[in-house]
Amino acid sequence: MLDADIQYLKGVGPNRALKLQKLNIFTIGDLLNYFPVKYEDRRTVKKINEISEPGKYLLKVKIIEKPKHSRIKKNMTIIKAICKDDTGFITLTFFNNDFLMDKLIVGDYYYVFGNVKIAFGKLETTNPEVEFADKDWKAGKIMPVYGLTYGLSNNEITKLVKTALETYYDSIQNILPEEIIKEYGLTSKKSAIKTLHFPSDGKEYSLAKKTIAFENLLIMQLGLFNIKNNLSNEFSDIKLRKTELSEKLLSYLPYRLTNAQLKVIEEIKEDLKSKKIMNRLIQGDVGSGKTVIAIYAMLMAVSSGYQSSMMAPTEILALQHYETIRGCLNLAGLDVKAEVLTGSTKAKEKQEILTKLKNGEIDIIVGTHALIEDNVEFKDIGLVVTDEQHRFGVRQRAKLANKGKSPHILIMTATPIPRTLALMIYGDLDISIIDEMPPGRQKVITYVITDKEKTKAYNFIKNHLDSGRQAYIVAPLVEESENLELDSVVEIYKELKSSYFSEYKLGLLHGKMSNSEKEEVINKFYKGKINMLVSTTVVEVGVNVPNAVVMLILNAERFGLAQLHQLRGRVGRGRHQSYCILVNESKSKKSKDRMSILKRTNNGFIIAEEDLKIRGPGDFFGVRQHGLSKFEIKNMVTSVETVQRVQLLSKKIIAENPNLIGNDYRNLKSEIMNLFKDDIVFN
Ligand code: ADP
Ligand code: MG
Repeated sequence: MLDADIQYLKGVGPNRALKLQKLNIFTIGDLLNYFPVKYEDRRTVKKINEISEPGKYLLKVKIIEKPKHSRIKKNMTIIKAICKDDTGFITLTFFNNDFLMDKLIVGDYYYVFGNVKIAFGKLETTNPEVEFADKDWKAGKIMPVYGLTYGLSNNEITKLVKTALETYYDSIQNILPEEIIKEYGLTSKKSAIKTLHFPSDGKEYSLAKKTIAFENLLIMQLGLFNIKNNLSNEFSDIKLRKTELSEKLLSYLPYRLTNAQLKVIEEIKEDLKSKKIMNRLIQGDVGSGKTVIAIYAMLMAVSSGYQSSMMAPTEILALQHYETIRGCLNLAGLDVKAEVLTGSTKAKEKQEILTKLKNGEIDIIVGTHALIEDNVEFKDIGLVVTDEQHRFGVRQRAKLANKGKSPHILIMTATPIPRTLALMIYGDLDISIIDEMPPGRQKVITYVITDKEKTKAYNFIKNHLDSGRQAYIVAPLVEESENLELDSVVEIYKELKSSYFSEYKLGLLHGKMSNSEKEEVINKFYKGKINMLVSTTVVEVGVNVPNAVVMLILNAERFGLAQLHQLRGRVGRGRHQSYCILVNESKSKKSKDRMSILKRTNNGFIIAEEDLKIRGPGDFFGVRQHGLSKFEIKNMVTSVETVQRVQLLSKKIIAENPNLIGNDYRNLKSEIMNLFKDDIVFN
């Protein structure tokens, strides 16, 4: 019933349905699971004389004289109403709300909820929400605030959710088996959903949140374990045991592998020797030397008579990997054919590469997403390597894997996940960790400054630009919406371009640009045609410009530490001393403590563990979304304990009832299949 089309809900016609679809709401169930991004606490009515700083408040006031209506421009009218409670006065201003003239009656009491400003000691609020005080429609409650789309107001969504809850409340079934709900002190799904939309107190809200988080985590963990189980039960015909070419490469390298690199190579060899399909993730900080390990593994494939591929998130990164591979092959004088395929490979060349891949004339192919297009066929692929592709989730990986029989899979990532969370986030993979840097690496010097010292920092950057270096400025993260983030980065870009940095060439980079636009800007930066790149966090992956030596991050307190660490990794890649400047605009101790961790260490794993302690696990779930946006556990999961309890429970369930047989597990099972689709196999 909950999977009925959203159009069946009272109040939703074709027009609204279209708007809801923009929010990924297609069914009644989707709407019920569309949880608020935050809440407005309207439980306490403020007295006017209690308001000493601007903010959003709920007031109960009486209109003391007839509101004034006037026209201030051709298409703009204004209403001003002076009100009071028993402690003071406030002016309400409304623009283009003529209909209110009949509703605002002198002597009557109203609830007013809005942004209150204080100008010269006088309180005023513009376009607040107003309700008669005798109807307690919204006053005295905690109200949901939803993520919005154009043409759909918060009020509208709130009403629709209310209707859906009224009509379908009893059809909301538990996903979790009754037993588990009891044992872990959770609540029913319907109660949790209702509370998350309309909480009445903090305790009830925590329980609801915990329930939904527990449920989501269990779905995810069981799904990942299922995938892992099935993969390890599948035997591979592909044996990649020969290491001649790989060892020859090592003997020619100008450096010795670190112990951590050697250990990971052993782990890979162990996998490739056994009968099962390798499914391994290498976690290692930026610069820890993951690429050479991947090349070692790919050369094992070639030595054993198989092809291998390496996929990167951007064209530039793909080209860089290709160059590295070519460099290695030349260095060791290996007769191995390598090619690169990206979105901008010319049609004719692409055709040639495709033919050669199919005939087995290419041993190693490097590329972007172009590699998972349907027309890419291999003669005999034995190993698939992906760099920073964990973001794309299980499904795309599976798609690439399906191109061969069942090739071995190696994934590389520079995002450190704390050990306690690794099983939950990468539970379908075996994990190798490179926890040691090659010797002699320069340490990026990190400064934490306040907003007031920004000008100094800009001058510092200019000095570096003047001596031919390059720099990044990262715009603040905006929690509410991607659109705001876009506004913010564009504004900062314009401002810097027209003031401090008017004499320099600036580039702008953000997530709403098309791939080719992004590539173009990055390319210009790479070639030195741009001095400084102003960017959102999209710069985090796949930009490698050794000449860039300063990374300045605005509102650094809004970022996760792991993310700041990643951003810092964009500099310190060449021979020049590099700097990371964190602008911390928060005065809180917590935030200062977090920033000082970055100052203290360059080790991503330590940073991740510390961040987990201070901020909780939520942020780490953003790393891997498993391809589903409604899976917003990011905001739900507040404790490591919950994660660990779910892990233990999942292990127990998988051991006792791996196929989730029985009525109690029916809904849980179907949720897992919904989330992971074809990657899941239940018997
Ligand atoms: P990442 O793990 O970030 O992908 P790379 O594989 O790109 O790091 O390695 C960064 C640089 O370090 C490369 O120039 C590589 O040649 C070099 N490198 C890798 N391993 C070692 C080592 N053991 N000793 C010295 N330099 C190394
Ligand atoms: Mg790399």
